Amino acid sequence: MREITEFVNEPFTDFGKSENRKAMEAALAKVRARLGASHQVVIGGKRMAGDGTFVSTNPSRPSEIVGVFEKGTAELADLAVKTAHEAFASWSRTSARDRSEVLFKAAAILRERKHEMSAWMIFEAGKNWAEADGDTAEAIDFCEFYARENLRYAGEQPLTRIPSEKNELRYIPLGVCAIIPPWNFPLAIMAGMTAAAFVTGNTVVLKPASDTPTIAARFFEILEEAGLPPGVVNFLTGPGSLAGESLVKHPLVRVVAFTGSKAVGLRINELAAKVGPGQKWVKRAVLEMGGKDFIIVDRTADVDAAATGIVSAAFGFQGQKCSACSRAIVDASVYDAVVAKVAEKTKALAVGAADDPATAVGPVINEDARRKILNYVESGKSEGRLVAGGGAADGSGWLIQPTVIADVKEDARIAQEEIFGPVLAILKSKDLDDALRIANGTEYGLTGSIYSNDRAAIDRAKNEAFVGNFYVNRKCTGALVGVHPFGGFNMSGTDSKAGGRDYLLLFLQAKAISELTSR
Ligand code: NDP
Repeated sequence: MREITEFVNEPFTDFGKSENRKAMEAALAKVRARLGASHQVVIGGKRMAGDGTFVSTNPSRPSEIVGVFEKGTAELADLAVKTAHEAFASWSRTSARDRSEVLFKAAAILRERKHEMSAWMIFEAGKNWAEADGDTAEAIDFCEFYARENLRYAGEQPLTRIPSEKNELRYIPLGVCAIIPPWNFPLAIMAGMTAAAFVTGNTVVLKPASDTPTIAARFFEILEEAGLPPGVVNFLTGPGSLAGESLVKHPLVRVVAFTGSKAVGLRINELAAKVGPGQKWVKRAVLEMGGKDFIIVDRTADVDAAATGIVSAAFGFQGQKCSACSRAIVDASVYDAVVAKVAEKTKALAVGAADDPATAVGPVINEDARRKILNYVESGKSEGRLVAGGGAADGSGWLIQPTVIADVKEDARIAQEEIFGPVLAILKSKDLDDALRIANGTEYGLTGSIYSNDRAAIDRAKNEAFVGNFYVNRKCTGALVGVHPFGGFNMSGTDSKAGGRDYLLLFLQAKAISELTSR
């Protein structure tokens, strides 16, 4: 029997070391040789075709096909849900220990193939080396953490004791979960949501994001290798509007776990609320959505540290993180110094292909995203003063210059709407009151941070910043599993706190059992 050690985070790879660089180069070469392969839908362990195919491409070189996938239909969605429903009968009765064991094995395989999984993300999502490595480490963490958490929930739960009764509380699974992840953490979020659902005894239909299905296919293969029985997780590719919606509406689906945009999240919420024919439950919808995240710099802050944190949080993975800093809110007394430093550090970022180890800022995910982001850049130029970037960057991929627009007013579009690209708005605040008011003045509430050396200011910001994840004297990205449970307020979602001790509860229901022991 496996010894369950305390959870520790997977370390990031130091690519400054030549052996690590060589290992990543070898993984890139291996993956490059496998680009363009075809993948089928997998239902109950059987490979199946859909209604035609679609391709995923490399955002650094858009003519390069990464994978060919089947377009899932409503019929396949129906079959996948029914298959998962059948598998629930036995999987929900499999011991928690055995279910966790599959996840521990999956984590071990992921760790063995760490650089290979990162290489797939470099090619399919346009992550640079370090960002891809962080995503893979987070996926390993989710598997390790949830495997342990499942054992905790399966153990004895504390209850008040009374004489003459034996009482217990058991957490039991819910049923079929539709798992609908985004493309931006194509391994970590996809694997985390899937793992949480099945380790707790539910069964799953996984519908990966259409920009990054290869990474999901590779993870699905790892689950098969780890010994997950057929039908427990089913793999259904295809358009969200068809394959995804068919799952959400299906009366046999018990839980919808979604991470993605506000617009799609709200639509799913509405669809999931409708009771389908023969449906016996209220569907649970776990919805994690967008952000308009901020970093406050107060008058006492270390200006250089703040500028470094802002640039890293704004432009890491091209600003395509839900936690990305898209608003720097800077006190008037240090404003000019911070703007100058942010502009200087931004201009020094190398923009290019994601597989080039020198690249800091790679391509955005696709052509449509690039067009939308460039529209924001253009409208942003009239909403403030352009101090860095300002348009597309040269090169073969969907490249955009990291862009900084200063003197932005709080009600400007670029200060209110999620752009999801390498665009930072800088806003001037009069004092801490003003900064907190501006920070809380959007419909979102995901991440935020303050740089300050004033204890009273820090304490006020900790209390008053209305975000799910708040940081002090560090950037607002980079949440670690177990360390920073993640999820946001308001239109940022249902605050599921992924990677925290509450997360598995979303996939469980509690049964209280009371037995009379004496009369
Ligand atoms: P989308 O909302 O476009 O897509 C997310 C997923 O939903 C995809 O799998 C997509 O499939 C699917 N989908 C699309 N339409 C429907 C539908 N009508 N019914 C069911 N499923 C559907 O988001 P993105 O993938 O573009 O991800 C970026 C967004 O995710 C940003 O807003 C970001 O802030 C947010 N995000 C939030 C996080 C958080 O923890 N709060 C973490 C990471 C990202 P397909 O790809 O086929 O369209």
